Amino acid sequence: MTDESSSGAPLVELTDVAVHFGGVRAVDGVTLTMREGLIYGLLGANGSGKSTLLGAVTRLNRLTRGSLCFDGADFTKLPAHRVAHLGVARTFQTVRLIDDRSVRDNVSLGVDTLDRSRRKEFAARVDEVMERVGIAESARLRPTELSYGMQRRVEIARAIVGRPRLLLLDEPTAGMNTDERDEIGELLRSLKSEGFTQLLVEHDVQMMVDVCDHLFAMNLGELIADGAPESVIADRAVRESYLGRQANDA
Ligand code: ADP
Ligand code: MG
Repeated sequence: MTDESSSGAPLVELTDVAVHFGGVRAVDGVTLTMREGLIYGLLGANGSGKSTLLGAVTRLNRLTRGSLCFDGADFTKLPAHRVAHLGVARTFQTVRLIDDRSVRDNVSLGVDTLDRSRRKEFAARVDEVMERVGIAESARLRPTELSYGMQRRVEIARAIVGRPRLLLLDEPTAGMNTDERDEIGELLRSLKSEGFTQLLVEHDVQMMVDVCDHLFAMNLGELIADGAPESVIADRAVRESYLGRQANDA
């Protein structure tokens, strides 16, 4: 883990962000800061608003109130495709790949989200990125011919091919066994060493402690903890709202 005092400037700042769907307060007043170069984790029970928060940052979800700042500039009103140009990329909670295109084509789609002037430069990196995340040998296959774990790697490749400054990962290891999870954890750590700032949603608390530099926890749309991993998982409100519930479910 990285000592936060030695880390970079604020990259993303959320101030009082709320996303309501009719009467559902999916996200309700979240204020947080993410600094350049760190891996952040977001914990919370199902329905606590994690995916909606990621959607707020990418501007896929309309903000009910609050503001968003990227690298010191307000982007609250930018449309989603312009947020991608800023350098924000995400993977989704469920696999979203195009089944009748090759793995390589799917990764290339990540280049299409870039500013026109940068596409050529990054198109040349598709093969390198596939190599990087361990899917080069599957380049010509269809996504459906790959294991679930490999499909998730294709999504990560698609998200990083444009070298985003912020990578949002929504449960990238859901449905994986422990070994596969460890491998993804290692991949995320190695991406960190290349300078990718990341926000990871993940239910495996041990993985969160091992991989993340800093944790956030949500409950019912609100941020209930924000700090060093060990202190967040020891936090009483987190234990009561989330970890206790997990133990009961087990
Ligand atoms: P999490 O990712 O933590 O499981 P979500 O962000 O998916 O939680 O959901 C938070 C709450 O918002 C849930 O009550 C969910 O049903 C609701 N919600 C999410 N997306 C929508 C939507 N598009 N329309 C209506 N309600 C939604
Ligand atoms: Mg979710």
